[in-house]
Amino acid sequence: MSIPYGRQLVDDDDVRAVCDVLRSDWLTTGPAVARFEAAVGEFVGAKHAVAISSGTAALHAAMNAAEIGPGDEVIVPALTFVATSNAVLYSGGRPVFADVDREKLVIDPASVEAAVTSKTKAIVGVDYAGHPCDWDALSAIARKNGLVLIDDACHALGAEYKGRKIGTLADMTILSFHPVKHITTGEGGMVLSENPTFFDKVKRFRNHGIDTDQRQRAERGTYQYDMVELGFNYRISDIGCALGTSQLRKLPSWLAKRNAIARAYDEAFSGGPLVPLGRAPDVLHAFHLYVVRTGHRRDTLFRRLRAEGIGVNVHYLPVYLHSYYRRTLGTAPGLCPVAEAAYAEVLSLPMFAGMTDHDVERVADRVGRLSGEG
Ligand SMILES: *Cc1c(COP(=O)(O)O)cnc(C)c1O
Repeated sequence: MSIPYGRQLVDDDDVRAVCDVLRSDWLTTGPAVARFEAAVGEFVGAKHAVAISSGTAALHAAMNAAEIGPGDEVIVPALTFVATSNAVLYSGGRPVFADVDREKLVIDPASVEAAVTSKTKAIVGVDYAGHPCDWDALSAIARKNGLVLIDDACHALGAEYKGRKIGTLADMTILSFHPVKHITTGEGGMVLSENPTFFDKVKRFRNHGIDTDQRQRAERGTYQYDMVELGFNYRISDIGCALGTSQLRKLPSWLAKRNAIARAYDEAFSGGPLVPLGRAPDVLHAFHLYVVRTGHRRDTLFRRLRAEGIGVNVHYLPVYLHSYYRRTLGTAPGLCPVAEAAYAEVLSLPMFAGMTDHDVERVADRVGRLSGEG
């Protein structure tokens, strides 16, 4: 039996919650969507929440709300999933890549500061692996330059920075509910914000740019609607949201479980050749990923572990090294040396709430043994 690097955990309560919605009047744009938005908003302490069809759609909606368009630059970290930077392209803007911090691999504020130009309109921080960015430093840069600050927290639901939960640390916060993330809706995402203007824009963008949704028109007894801007069908179903609300109840125990797995790995690898990423003392890590540095033996280790059924993975090739980016933006190696060096040696180990103690021991044993070989 092989162990994947991440996997959803779905129990009977989740199945019941989904079945209840299937027998109800609303499969989409119904009350389960609003309930999920309220539940996540309450969990993180955010005023406004809009559930949307994916984390990628959430990023796109945030770029639209920030009014990113042709000629605008958005600073993004080099080391992230391509969706972070693709969202800038969807809006016609230009992603500008900042390097990451050597220890934690989150966006480096000094690199962000150096990348600001008169065309910069927004900064996106990614809480890589579930470790919060240096949000105080990023906020200061955003304030000083009048920029919109976006938190791509797709790895970090439940994480805390200096005692504050991820979700209110930027102008807009993005979540993903893909099955490998902390909680799932199948496919799904969310935009959190304290700002009512951003909230209204994201909500409208989710539904073709139309001013009301189907349920609002039913309640008001009208057939009329106005499309005020160009939006998309980025709606999420009640089926997915019922699953999400049921999953959210288990999130605190799952976060504790992820932290316990991380402690077990830390202990197993201490004194060995593998070096876990650094952590700031004033954060609660959400451990979407457990990443180790392997030195020059990464690819050998990757192959051997995969052959033994250990689902290790690599996060990420710096975005600008993908062929599409090289071809269209003319980017090349050398742009963000810290991210490139990290890419060459990082390995993500299996990390998910459903791991058994036996799974954790098996991974720790195989990784420990194989990393000791040449
Ligand atoms: C998962 C992820 C996304 C995209 O989320 P989807 O729900 O898969 O569209 C964006 N950014 C980061 C950092 C992610 O990990």
